[in-house]
Amino acid sequence: MTLQKNLDRARGIDFPTNAVIGGKLIGAKCGKTFDNVSPRDGSVVSKVAACEAEDIDAAVKAARAAFDDGRWRNKHPREKKKIMFKLAELMERDLEELAFLETLDMGKPIRDTLSVDIPTAINSIRWYAEALDKVYGEVAMTPSERLSFIVREPLGVVGAIVPWNFPLHMACWKVAPALATGNSIVLKPAEQSPSTALKLGELALEAGIPPGVLNVVPGFGDTAGQALARHMDVDLIAFTGSGEVGRKLMSYAAESNLKRVALELGGKSPQIVFADAEDLDAAADAAAWGIFFNQGEICNAASRLLVEASIKDDFVKKVVERAAQYAPGDPLDPASATGAIVSESQMRRVLGFIDRAPKEGAVLARGGKRAREESGGFYVEPTVFDNVANTHALAREEVFGPVLGVIAFKDEDEAVRLANDTVYGLASGLWTANISRAHRVARKLRSGLVWINGWDACDITVPFGGAKQSGFGRDRSLHALEKYTELKGISITYRP
Ligand code: NAP
Ligand code: MG
Repeated sequence: MTLQKNLDRARGIDFPTNAVIGGKLIGAKCGKTFDNVSPRDGSVVSKVAACEAEDIDAAVKAARAAFDDGRWRNKHPREKKKIMFKLAELMERDLEELAFLETLDMGKPIRDTLSVDIPTAINSIRWYAEALDKVYGEVAMTPSERLSFIVREPLGVVGAIVPWNFPLHMACWKVAPALATGNSIVLKPAEQSPSTALKLGELALEAGIPPGVLNVVPGFGDTAGQALARHMDVDLIAFTGSGEVGRKLMSYAAESNLKRVALELGGKSPQIVFADAEDLDAAADAAAWGIFFNQGEICNAASRLLVEASIKDDFVKKVVERAAQYAPGDPLDPASATGAIVSESQMRRVLGFIDRAPKEGAVLARGGKRAREESGGFYVEPTVFDNVANTHALAREEVFGPVLGVIAFKDEDEAVRLANDTVYGLASGLWTANISRAHRVARKLRSGLVWINGWDACDITVPFGGAKQSGFGRDRSLHALEKYTELKGISITYRP
């Protein structure tokens, strides 16, 4: 694979642009489209159906009809599994195309979409297909003349609203367990990254998922997203995105049909490095990777680096050295470890934090500038700020870009206090060779995930989600199935 080959391949990519509603590929009823801009070079790569409330309504009606007649949920579990496996197989067949779509849509390096994003999405579909007939109900303890059992049933119509940072991967974290439990789905991808979700909708039909079961409706958050979240016949909004939108979704639910809302929101995740860590080089690798991978556009980015004061200066040097490996390049270049920031406005937001940090007293240790401007795209250098205080904007607000803030601490108590002094609680990490400290600190950190001596030790078998304002509800693992099901108690009374 070379850059030239990839440029040629990219020219041949056919972008899906129509909504998938009730098994048909159709434009928005109003006839409007929106520009899908590639942050790689600022060019418009496709014009996508700009769906509005009437399209959402059509999709919800199609989803409801499919749910009510049982065309998916009542299929034999073996058959459902076979079809989901087929979907995974088709995604594998089109892995390269999906990877190019993802890279061109949102600017992440092709080497990551080929090896991480798309394979992970495929794995989610397979994993939940495998799981779907391995979840049992319960029998309750009741008086002897009664038998009570507890079953889990699909909710009905699931609205999934997903962000642009891992577009297909996040979509599949929701679509796979929702399908496995027998629901119908209306998926709304982010306006910055609609293509792979639309392709997923097409592949689902090809795999044999019945029409109406997986609908994909591209459009803007304020119109399509809001209409979905306010719809009176949607049973759950499964969301990944910002806290700001998460709040709106809760009020839309309250103002409409009290649908359930599951929120996976942002973070300001701390990675704590104690002086007694066994391998400070590995910790420095993780510190750099934790913030620079995916251009820092990761909800669980290790954006606050808490380092014990006695080793801080040496450790920052190590991280700064490693940052160079993440210099942004053309996302289509197989050598690029990072690519473009998703949009011009997101890049400006990131540069705004960089501009403000020194004014609050932080010291720039590396980077700090826009890069590759001549490409027409939106790139930012991997940036490290030292001497950050936990009160600075850089330590409190989610940047969602390649900007690290280093904060020194003097002892374990202070490390825990600083780590928890945030409204977020998605992930935390700590590096120490002291096993008692590792357990003690892990238990004190208020976050949905804690990684000891490693960062982002992610696996589909472990639930993913946050505490505090990082949201509630979990993706991944068998626990994700709970979100898409309703508990029902059924009791039979009989003569003893
Ligand atoms: P966002 O602005 O919240 O958008 C997320 C989704 O919500 C998009 O599809 C967006 O549509 C839609 N939306 C926007 N306004 C809406 C409204 N009024 N009603 C209904 N839907 C609406 O977030 P983002 O900028 O795409 O993604 C970054 C955020 O996601 C960060 O905060 C990050 O931390 C978080 N995130 C969390 C996780 C996790 O698992 N915890 C994972 C990844 C990302 P449009 O884009 O079309 O407007
Ligand atoms: Mg785009």
